[in-house]
Amino acid sequence: MAHQRVEPQGSVHPGSPTASVATVRSVPRRRAFCPLCGGEQQDKLASEVATAEAALCAGRCTVAWQVLTALRLSESGNEQVVARRREEWEAREPHAATLSEILLGRWRAGDWAVAPEDLLGQLR
Ligand SMILES: [Zn+2]
Repeated sequence: MAHQRVEPQGSVHPGSPTASVATVRSVPRRRAFCPLCGGEQQDKLASEVATAEAALCAGRCTVAWQVLTALRLSESGNEQVVARRREEWEAREPHAATLSEILLGRWRAGDWAVAPEDLLGQLR
């Protein structure tokens, strides 16, 4: 069995995709926060936002979210990624970041050098 792995470049935001969804809870009278950049949505109450997507900023964050969703979908169906995850889980190692996690970390940090608009065009 091959134990080859690709190490992530630089530091990665610890927030996982699932953790970002959990931040959008139904708390009355609170503003919703964008699950991507964390920006407060002035025109949306958290109680009115049913899904993480609904709290996204219009524009770039929405495009970025679409890219990440498409990437995660392909990663979850990727046998190499799934096998690697299982090995890391069994060895209790922190898992190596996938492309979607690296991108999420960069965009969260405000690094838009990799434009989501460009990626979306390639994914389609
Ligand atoms: Zn945003």
